[in-house]
Amino acid sequence: MKPPPFAWYAPDTLEEALSLLAEHGDEAKALAGGQSLIPVLNFRLARPSVLVDLNRVAALSGIAEIDGGVRIGAMTRQREAERSPWVAKRAPLLAEALVHVAHPQIRNRGTVGGSLAHADPAAELPALALAFGTRFRLRRGSTERVLEAKDFFRGLLTTALEPDELLVDTEWPHLPNGAGWAFEEIARRHGDYALLGVAAVVVRDSGGVCTEARLAYVSAGPGPVRTTGAEAMLVGRVLDADTIREAAAAAAEEIKPGSDVHASVEYRRQLARVLTARALTRAGQRASS
Ligand code: FAD
Repeated sequence: MKPPPFAWYAPDTLEEALSLLAEHGDEAKALAGGQSLIPVLNFRLARPSVLVDLNRVAALSGIAEIDGGVRIGAMTRQREAERSPWVAKRAPLLAEALVHVAHPQIRNRGTVGGSLAHADPAAELPALALAFGTRFRLRRGSTERVLEAKDFFRGLLTTALEPDELLVDTEWPHLPNGAGWAFEEIARRHGDYALLGVAAVVVRDSGGVCTEARLAYVSAGPGPVRTTGAEAMLVGRVLDADTIREAAAAAAEEIKPGSDVHASVEYRRQLARVLTARALTRAGQRASS
């Protein structure tokens, strides 16, 4: 399939890109790596008459260490983030999850911002953003706003982005001191979209008692899902096998997975039970008190 016809603009600056989006409104779409947008056009699921190609906008790319975290420009390739020493050192949970995003060829083109803006519930990065409490910097004309991950994602393939607004970058805060973390997912073949995935973060005190827990899921609802009920069950308890089993069972009931040709709701809940237990066990082993 070929896409419907469109006019293509390739601005060099963020300001030009924003003014093109403002001029063309609902008719325009930003083009990042094209790994999701081009299939969407080819399948005629969207028919924008204008594409604003962001690939020449250097200001949107790059990874930098900032006070309290790591900033990743929206046009940074997923592969660059996966291989970044800053990400490996400051946000290793993100590096562990990025290798599950599609295949290296796709990660070479696909961008961190494109994946977040696309908001596919089967994508890893939106769930990771919930687990980190990532901040999203958006710009429309000369107006900027910053949203937390929980306010950025609005449901199936839907975010808070307005048609003439761009995601500029995301800030991934450091996890709490001594936090343990792990990412687990199951896909039919490595590189396929996850049937289910989970990111776990735990903090424990010197007695081994959990003082904070975060659980965020891939393919577990219309958007990325955090299971605050299961998280609350962990806090105040020693992270032993019984506690982990109980919390994993609670999380499996709390998620709202769909049924499709790849997996039933029951199978996804079973995956959530197993993967949550694995992720919490590994995260607990990594946590230092
Ligand atoms: P594009 O496709 O260019 O854009 C996607 C959407 O985001 C468009 O609506 C676009 O307008 C919007 N957008 C992009 N950048 C911005 C911005 N800065 N501001 C505002 N809006 C913006 N992803 C996974 O997470 N896990 C997988 O397992 C996985 N498997 C894949 C397998 C295949 C075969 C393919 C083709 C893709 C797969 N993907 C997977 C998707 C891939 O990660 C895409 O790269 C990603 O979803 C979109 O990033 P992109 O840079 O290609 O964005």
